[in-house]
Amino acid sequence: MGRPPFVTRFAPSPTGCLHRGHAFSALTAFAAARDAGGRFLLRIEDIDAGRCRPEYETAIKEDLAWLGLTWEEPVLRQSERLAAYGAALENLRTRGLIYRCFRTRKDSLDDIGRAPHGAADRATPRRLPPADEARLLAEGRPFAWRLSLGAAERAVGGFSRLTFEEEGAGPAGERGTIAARPDLAGDVILARKDLGVSYHLAVAVDDAWQGVTHVSRGCDLFAAAHTQRLLQALLDLPTPVYRHHPLLLRPDGKRFAKRDTAETLADLRARGVTAAALRAELGV
Ligand code: GLU
Repeated sequence: MGRPPFVTRFAPSPTGCLHRGHAFSALTAFAAARDAGGRFLLRIEDIDAGRCRPEYETAIKEDLAWLGLTWEEPVLRQSERLAAYGAALENLRTRGLIYRCFRTRKDSLDDIGRAPHGAADRATPRRLPPADEARLLAEGRPFAWRLSLGAAERAVGGFSRLTFEEEGAGPAGERGTIAARPDLAGDVILARKDLGVSYHLAVAVDDAWQGVTHVSRGCDLFAAAHTQRLLQALLDLPTPVYRHHPLLLRPDGKRFAKRDTAETLADLRARGVTAAALRAELGV
């Protein structure tokens, strides 16, 4: 008997240059695949055409190669997968699991302004009565598709049946068998008005399509696993094992951000830092 399959991925969005935090994340996933005798995939999460740039994708690949990582070709680019996301959305739509949301950013801001006690008082998005929806559609108003948590809960026979395995840790040390709580995120958007898809839908569809068995990523995305677990159940997709890792922090204790241009990997390289020195510093 061979070892069980182990497929993991690094899934950056080409909206900026990689920094030390990304290096830690990519190296962690790569090391996990190597140690398990498994496969390491690179996925370019470029659905947001307005924010993603081909030059960042090129720079990301240069940085990862400099770090000593190798990945399988062809690289999956989410902008080439819109038909697959559309099919998943259509599946959910025909089963009554999503609804059109015509709310604008201004509606949400107005709600926040009105709500005396913060987020909890905001109007919850909800399915519109058919006549109102027909009127807005006839007016040509743009809409997003939201997941109906109520319909989803009925479809899966209760959220308490949904669990996932966490082999790393969530931000509060969550580990082991985790009961999924998709209700905490509410009726999430599955197709943005401007894009026709959302991060959650694309990730759930692609992790399954690529045969990812282990999702290795920062613990800032632990909450996303709860929603993605529900989408896996609704779309009849396998659930990978999750390995969320702690976020690498800057010396001042803050998170690295794409706007910290002085800390990009390209910048470190230009200053003569070697990949070996960076790997030693990061301990991966
Ligand atoms: N594209 C996401 C990011 O750059 C990561 C998605 C994931 O690992 O699930 O933060």
